[in-house]
Amino acid sequence: MSDQTGRRKTRQLYIGNVPIGGDAPISIQSMTSCPTKNIPLVLAEIKRLEEAGCEIVRLGIPDEESARAIRLIKNETRIPIVADIHFDYRLALESIEAGADALRINPGNLRNKEQVQALVKACRDKNIPIRIGVNSGSIDKTRFSHPTAEALVDSALEHIKILEELEFFEIKVSLKSSHVPTMVRAYRLFAEIRDYPLHLGVTEAGTYEQAIVKSSIGIGALLLDGIGDTIRVSITGDVVKEIEAARTILRSLGLRKEGIEIISCPTCARKEFDVEAAVNELLEKTKHVKKYLKVAVMGCVVNGPGEASEADVGVAVGKTGAVLFKNGKVIKNISKDQIISALLEEIFQ
Ligand code: SF4
Repeated sequence: MSDQTGRRKTRQLYIGNVPIGGDAPISIQSMTSCPTKNIPLVLAEIKRLEEAGCEIVRLGIPDEESARAIRLIKNETRIPIVADIHFDYRLALESIEAGADALRINPGNLRNKEQVQALVKACRDKNIPIRIGVNSGSIDKTRFSHPTAEALVDSALEHIKILEELEFFEIKVSLKSSHVPTMVRAYRLFAEIRDYPLHLGVTEAGTYEQAIVKSSIGIGALLLDGIGDTIRVSITGDVVKEIEAARTILRSLGLRKEGIEIISCPTCARKEFDVEAAVNELLEKTKHVKKYLKVAVMGCVVNGPGEASEADVGVAVGKTGAVLFKNGKVIKNISKDQIISALLEEIFQ
């Protein structure tokens, strides 16, 4: 069922102080890429992620030292921490004890019912949700020969059943595939039948350019359907790029009003100015700006003024100088070397 905004209504849960699902804003998350036990490195990475706009951070927990590190990391940060665990329920218990705000673990991967019961009890005691994270590599190969969308959904339902039988419903679900049509179909199928909040992502999306394209299509298609409560853009590379991409996806869909949205022309034979260099400089200098502003940079005065005048602030560049627009009106003529400083002055006003 969807609400009046077209967004599918899901149950709401909390990861730390961040609401997920229901009418909560779609949150942005990422995962650190350094060893969790290297606390200074993790803290530095978390700081960069938070500055870029990350709201939830996931840490890989491959061993006990990493689980124990959560306590020290929590002492130094305020961002909610998700402990990502495969198979070993003791690491899950240790992570909960150390202060993790949520777990990513698939209960069907635990050895027996006693381990699942212990896990559910610990989560319940501390009010901690569990993300069931299914991806194409983790489906039951004895039942499905190919990681189809149906197989992903079926696998998620199996894990969910284990928790529901213990009357545990603080569940979030992801159904990731590196094949975008499969991932989109899996989330759509799941959203038809269950109302648990959904964590969207394309897994193993590759390095920057490919990852951006795949994630924008996959995550974007679902968000346009009203499906999805929290997103992670996976990129092989700098984690901060994940956050920048996630913010751009949400802003492009009108789901967030924050940051600088650049309207720039593709340039052509008429350009009077290096538009690309100017836009790159502006983006670099404004990447941590939280307020929403549409900034236009147009390479000539043929189409430039029309486009620039629709932005909150903008320039159209002519042969001898540029025109600065604000809220649809020309406010002054400036020289070409004043373009960046004039726009920055308006942005930081
Ligand atoms: S604004 Fe001017 S320079 Fe830019 S693409 Fe349009 S006509 Fe070409």
